[in-house]
Amino acid sequence: MKVLVVGGAGYIGSHMVKMLASDGYDVVVLDNLSTGFRESVKYGTLIIGDLADVNLLENIFIEHKFDGVMHFAANSLVGESMQNPSKYYRNNVSNTQNLLDVMVRHHVKHFIFSSTAATFGEPSYSPIDENHPQNPINPYGSTKLMVERILKDYHSAYGLHSVSLRYFNACGADPEGEIGELHDPETHLIPLILQAASGRRQDITVFGRDYPTEDGTCIRDYIHINDLCSAHAQALNYITEQSHAGAFAFNLGNGKGFSVQEVIDVVKEVVERDGYNLTVKDGERRQGDPAILVADSKLAQATLQWEPKFDQLKIIVEHAWNWEKQIIKLN
Ligand code: UDP
Repeated sequence: MKVLVVGGAGYIGSHMVKMLASDGYDVVVLDNLSTGFRESVKYGTLIIGDLADVNLLENIFIEHKFDGVMHFAANSLVGESMQNPSKYYRNNVSNTQNLLDVMVRHHVKHFIFSSTAATFGEPSYSPIDENHPQNPINPYGSTKLMVERILKDYHSAYGLHSVSLRYFNACGADPEGEIGELHDPETHLIPLILQAASGRRQDITVFGRDYPTEDGTCIRDYIHINDLCSAHAQALNYITEQSHAGAFAFNLGNGKGFSVQEVIDVVKEVVERDGYNLTVKDGERRQGDPAILVADSKLAQATLQWEPKFDQLKIIVEHAWNWEKQIIKLN
């Protein structure tokens, strides 16, 4: 099976490429390296290019006969999407449509799409299942929801089978330590805390301690990157080998919520073993942060025969810490 991974030089894409290659897939990566890194693509063939380049897409699809496409290439900063929606609608929606149209023209029928919990907006109940209303509260979430809707219409009209996977908080790193999270700027909690511990940052600020949760800090569903990737592999299998027809969507989390304070406590425990420590400061709430965001992933588990394996926060943090230690050695 030959798979095109768009955005395969990014955090999630690069872990996916590794998993597909170790599962015996022939992998081609397309990435414009705007936020991804050439060094993160350890397997497959890397083509550097942009989804805006329709001629390039045509040529790639003429040269390669793909069984499926996985699409991770998107801009994903909520704040930036509010400042610069044009960039988000252009890249996340229009460019995705270029990709879908070239797939339709070349009769490539299987598509796995990186969606997000941000398509739900303000949660009206928890844990969030697939029946929860989707009312995104920022352009980032809207762009992802638009693509989910496009996929439904492309299934009805062109027979394109797809699975949209709505991630909650992706985190952790390759258990073998070969790749990990590299974002610039980094905005996510776990890598920020680890950077505060390793000395790449002075401290970590807790954004609000007055939420209606047990310890007052926000609760999120942190899902290990390899669990996310194995869900993608199962999703591809679901629509290719098992030939399920449709435009499906599933929520992906590990089903357990952890508060910001709990994450800090676990990081402290892990890094102190290596003689590191960290400074924690308290700050204001960050705009647009709901108190609790936890996924109900039962549908994905039952339908895709998928199960998160690395659902212990300590293991997630250990893998991410191993990666952070490699980064500081290099710097
Ligand atoms: N957070 C924090 N300090 C930081 C970064 C994040 O307290 O420097 C909190 C944030 O308010 C949220 C949680 O950590 O409750 C996870 O934030 P992140 O940006 O990692 O992911 P999000 O849930 O926004 O997708």
